[in-house]
Amino acid sequence: MTHAAPNQPFDHEVDVLVVGSGAGAMTAALRAAHAGARVLIVEKAAVYGGTSATSGGGLWIPGNHLMAGCGIDDSEADALHYMTQLVGDDAPAANVRAFVTHGKRMLRWLCEHSHVAYQAMACYADYYQHLAGSRPGARSIDPLPYDARALGDDFRDMQAPHRQTRVLGMIGYSNSEGAVLLSKSPGWFKLLLKLTLAYFLDLPWRLRSTRSRRLTMGNALIGRLRRSLLDRGVPIRLNTPLRRLVVDEAGAVVGAEVQREGKPLRIRARRGVIAGSGGFEHNQQLRERYLPKPTQARWSAASPSNTGDLLVEGQRLGAATRLLDEAWWGPTMHIAGEDRARMLFTERSMPGAIVVNRRGARFFNESVAYTTAVQAMYADGNLPAYLVFDARYARAYPFGPLLPGGMHLNWLQPRHIRRALLTTAPNLRALAAKLGIDAAGLEASVARFNVFAANGKDEDYGRGENPYDLLYGDVRVRPNPCLAPLAEAPFHALEIHPGDIGTKGGLATDEHGRVLRADGAPIAGFYAVGNLAASVTGRHYPGAGATLGPAMTFGFLAAEHACADLLDNARPETPPNPPTN
Ligand SMILES: Cc1cc2nc3c(=O)[nH]c(=O)nc-3n(C[C@H](O)[C@H](O)[C@H](O)COP(=O)(O)OP(=O)(O)OC[C@H]3O[C@@H](n4cnc5c(N)ncnc54)[C@H](O)[C@@H]3O)c2cc1C
Repeated sequence: MTHAAPNQPFDHEVDVLVVGSGAGAMTAALRAAHAGARVLIVEKAAVYGGTSATSGGGLWIPGNHLMAGCGIDDSEADALHYMTQLVGDDAPAANVRAFVTHGKRMLRWLCEHSHVAYQAMACYADYYQHLAGSRPGARSIDPLPYDARALGDDFRDMQAPHRQTRVLGMIGYSNSEGAVLLSKSPGWFKLLLKLTLAYFLDLPWRLRSTRSRRLTMGNALIGRLRRSLLDRGVPIRLNTPLRRLVVDEAGAVVGAEVQREGKPLRIRARRGVIAGSGGFEHNQQLRERYLPKPTQARWSAASPSNTGDLLVEGQRLGAATRLLDEAWWGPTMHIAGEDRARMLFTERSMPGAIVVNRRGARFFNESVAYTTAVQAMYADGNLPAYLVFDARYARAYPFGPLLPGGMHLNWLQPRHIRRALLTTAPNLRALAAKLGIDAAGLEASVARFNVFAANGKDEDYGRGENPYDLLYGDVRVRPNPCLAPLAEAPFHALEIHPGDIGTKGGLATDEHGRVLRADGAPIAGFYAVGNLAASVTGRHYPGAGATLGPAMTFGFLAAEHACADLLDNARPETPPNPPTN
């Protein structure tokens, strides 16, 4: 076994060493610090927050305490039933139960003991509406915006939001606001105006930064967690990658060797190492070893510093793995020069766009959730796939970084982005020729789809027939908000890739987040959370927020396990950590 020698002296000592600074890791750090543990976070990147900071920040938490406010009830039995149908044998039943039971407890604890604050998304439906136990909304929750000023100088070190979650790359919006803007629900234009004016009229802040002071989505979640950690005196060491776990003679993890300012630094972790270092999204070698082909690191929308370091380290220590061929899939586009891909969360669903393969044929319901969309792409196999739409669609809806053409603002986008995005032609035949796909197939697919649009019924794939499909439909389009004909020239197409927002296979863990060996025994002192651990949701994506919800729940549970004796003896409130050097 290759690991750092246990007998060398340590340079530092803490109770809990947390690796990575995504939402799962930060939740673990906060829970442990509240229990009275001395906690240190080490982060490989030059900024904190990981992919979590660039995400929507949404959590999927069945039975959460905010659901009642939307008039949607829930029960552990229904949530378990829904999950069990999806997960099957792909995750241990005890882990599924732990998530359902403790997710809501984790959320309530955060809302009561930290700056974390959420609102339920009443219309954000679970992704598999046909399954018993699903809900039409409110298991998915949206972080409340946060004022960056509360972070002081620490704001500078926070990972900026993903480009795709800002209007014109600048103006942030919450998930709830995004749903209104995208579906053109009543009041959408007034809301856009309000957000735009608030951004540009925030003059003192504009002189300091182009980044918005009003943090939304993943930035709101990470900002709120960071403020809470600052209140507890928990430091984050940036540019400090973990290189090795330190293991004692009995095989327990007792610390780690990190790299700091070019030098190795040994940190003893008395109560354990909780690693939330992300998946292996940006490690091309590991992608090729484990994921279905074709696969490219540049098709991932996740953080480039997530290269599977702790997965490899865990495997060296004899950890078992599960689901390494899986990811939180999503169709993506990649623009040359950008360090990560952009997801197509909503564009497929808007009326007047279809997805076709090389034969010019549709092959699935374009309005399904993103993971299902990529599963359909791999199952069809006739890649690449293209999103095709007409001039009316381009005028009416945002597309990637482009605003609805009717707003006449796209000249504000850099020219290379405008050029990179679309292939355009005056008719479908010419478009197919430019793309190198079957022209007759494309013409036939569009003709057939246009009949479905006129009748409001997709006879082939049932698009627009359930609450999730309708989320990103256009409420003004009747009779089916997800269907409109592709009829007005010019026609546009974009190649879409089978990308991801993170890998979801990883180290096998138990219901406390402890990493397990092949024989099922835990590796003492070693916990894995977030995308480093094999997902509790198996091969499916139960609802929006199903990556962060479990990441934070198991971060919380891992900290409670590592600090169990402190919690047993805890006074109701423990004072903040003394500063750790
Ligand atoms: C545009 C977008 C929107 C999304 N929206 C949502 C959403 O609303 N809800 C949801 O549930 N999911 C969403 N996701 C997915 C979600 O963001 C990720 O699945 C999640 O953030 C993964 O969390 P993590 O803690 O595993 O990894 P991360 O948040 O990426 O954190 C891992 C951290 O570990 C650090 N690290 C890596 N290696 C080391 C090392 N050797 N030493 C020290 N540190 C290391 C990395 O630098 C990184 O900062 C979205 C993703 C994207 C791209």
